[in-house]
Amino acid sequence: MKSAVYPGSFDPTTNGHLDIIKRASKIVDKLYVAVLDNPSKTPLFTVEERVSQLKEILKDHDNVKVMSFSGLLVDFVRSVGSNIIVRGLRGVTDFSYEFQMALSNRSLDSNIETLFISADTQYLFFSSSQVKEIAFFNGNIDNMVPDIVKTELQKKMQVLKAQQETGGK
Ligand code: ADP
Repeated sequence: MKSAVYPGSFDPTTNGHLDIIKRASKIVDKLYVAVLDNPSKTPLFTVEERVSQLKEILKDHDNVKVMSFSGLLVDFVRSVGSNIIVRGLRGVTDFSYEFQMALSNRSLDSNIETLFISADTQYLFFSSSQVKEIAFFNGNIDNMVPDIVKTELQKKMQVLKAQQETGGK
């Protein structure tokens, strides 16, 4: 059985991520979507929130399993019995970072291959960070994220704004 791991922060999941997940899940028998629990970053959504959003969004995709991981990606890939890492590429700006990461993962385990999938043109221009910024200023993110993410983002932004207001007084 051919399996692959699609790792990322998914803070939050965008339609660009979903497109890569759907396409990757068609070329392998099982796709593990691996949400990075990185203690050195301060995400907007906790790892539990990010995992539960993805599980809800992907509940009808039988060959996709959502998990969280911490530590080295290659260790996680081996732990699920896979040897393929999937990453999405939006263009040259992603490329240098992704290429470097693929090389360092390869130096850690040469049995693990990184497979790049080019982003669809309609998703080329947005990232999780941009989506958060637009949501903070009440911009329209309807085409950028699934409905469940939109609802949760709006709630988070209200809390953030309330915190900023009380903090500023
Ligand atoms: P990371 O912090 O590991 O970069 P992200 O959640 O930002 O995690 O991204 C995970 C993967 O999804 C990366 O390979 C990234 O290039 C890809 N990706 C991010 N946004 C998009 C998008 N809009 N379209 C396609 N791929 C994307």
